[in-house]
Amino acid sequence: MTPLSSGGFPANARDALADEKLQAALVNVRTIFRGNRTRAVAATPEFEALRDAGAAVKRHVVENLDAYLERFIAAAEARGGVVHLCADAASARETIAAICRGEGAKLVTKGKSMVTEEIGLNPYLESQGFTPVETDLGEYIVQLRGEPPSHIIAPACHVKKEQVAETFRAAHPHRPAERDLSTHEALLAEARAELRARFLSADVGITGANLLIAETGDAVLVTNEGNGDLTQSLPRCHIVVASIEKLVPTLEDAATVLRVLGRSATGQAASSYTTLSGGVAQPGERGGPAACHVVILDNGRSAMLGGKYEEMLRCIRCGACINHCPIFAAVGGHAYGAVYVGPMGSVLTPLLQSLEEARHLPHACTMCGRCAEVCPMKIPLPDLLRRLREETHAAALTSARSRMGLRLWTFLAQHPSLYRGAGRLAAAALRLAGRRAGALRRWPLAGGWTRFRDLPVPQGGGFVARAYRGDRTGRAAEGDGADGQ
Ligand code: SF4
Repeated sequence: MTPLSSGGFPANARDALADEKLQAALVNVRTIFRGNRTRAVAATPEFEALRDAGAAVKRHVVENLDAYLERFIAAAEARGGVVHLCADAASARETIAAICRGEGAKLVTKGKSMVTEEIGLNPYLESQGFTPVETDLGEYIVQLRGEPPSHIIAPACHVKKEQVAETFRAAHPHRPAERDLSTHEALLAEARAELRARFLSADVGITGANLLIAETGDAVLVTNEGNGDLTQSLPRCHIVVASIEKLVPTLEDAATVLRVLGRSATGQAASSYTTLSGGVAQPGERGGPAACHVVILDNGRSAMLGGKYEEMLRCIRCGACINHCPIFAAVGGHAYGAVYVGPMGSVLTPLLQSLEEARHLPHACTMCGRCAEVCPMKIPLPDLLRRLREETHAAALTSARSRMGLRLWTFLAQHPSLYRGAGRLAAAALRLAGRRAGALRRWPLAGGWTRFRDLPVPQGGGFVARAYRGDRTGRAAEGDGADGQ
């Protein structure tokens, strides 16, 4: 997996908040993705039932992973495919490079695949003398810019079209310098022209898979650009790279999951292209690869089976939790310094990589709960993040200051009269300090909350004081107008 950046999330987030171009680009995440999903769900009255059915499919698979893995291998190999089980990233990289070597490959086209990002495939292939070319438009842009993707379904969502034009001018010096690249259409046309030649001359095509169907041995790939189909059908050799939890039992189960995937990801009833591929071209078929390999990656997933994070294995990488996360919308994906970003990444990265290296990520969350509300697989992301926070605290990976603060809070919470007294004192002090503009920005320990916004001045004695008074007087505290206690 890509190393986490040295500054960690807090430093990256500060830089991201000060980056005006990034902030302008992130507006699209806040508006387009969320609006599209809302409309798609509203137009699907059975969406909640589909969500239940999809989550049940994935829950069943996770509980019976070994059986479905065996069934998939048998079905894929019966159609001429070769399945490789890889325990970790290094073995997956080496397996893929060995296949490319065996094919005498030079140019390798790639469809978008987060698993290949996870195993750091492109740098490894380059180090072995191959030329990998990303063919998804967003991935192509970030590859040319030398950046990792910043979102699992929209890799270049952090870039404005003017920046893409600059990137294309630098990467395509053989094209006329005076060409117009001011519109999305012009940028698309140029990318299409550049990539077409690569599709036609590639020796090996590598794609990910949204699902692996155990009963048929098919890999299911959904895209909106058709690049995945050209990647997997034109070269003489096709390599599918997928992680073990992508299995589903049957074609019908795949259809159930796909119905929530498109709506949750981009707000589409179905993506523009949904392609099933399996095995090699059969006699009489006019297209398809002569060789087909499926590389199935574990890389820490089987260690999650039966444990307190097993539910994360239901994730179908739709990106809905990311699109609805206020933290992601404020800082973008690169701030996470990891392949998987947003709420799903803040759970997965510590589990797949290292709790110590990713210790900031479970804390990059406001606990608003929106991610769990929109997750089509009903993964309780805030609960999983809370468990990881407990682990970072228990392992002393949080700052000494925050541990001391929590110890103090625990002591006060166990002594209600002291808690109420401290709450009243704090509220009074904040009201006093809040008389001067900007005073609440300079309070010790509050910098993380107040550097980019004002801390509101307390308007009453606080929740506990209200609840306590309501309880004592036998009245409902809510809405009683209690103030200034
Ligand atoms: S955690 Fe849920 S919402 Fe987030 S990417 Fe996975 S399936 Fe989608």
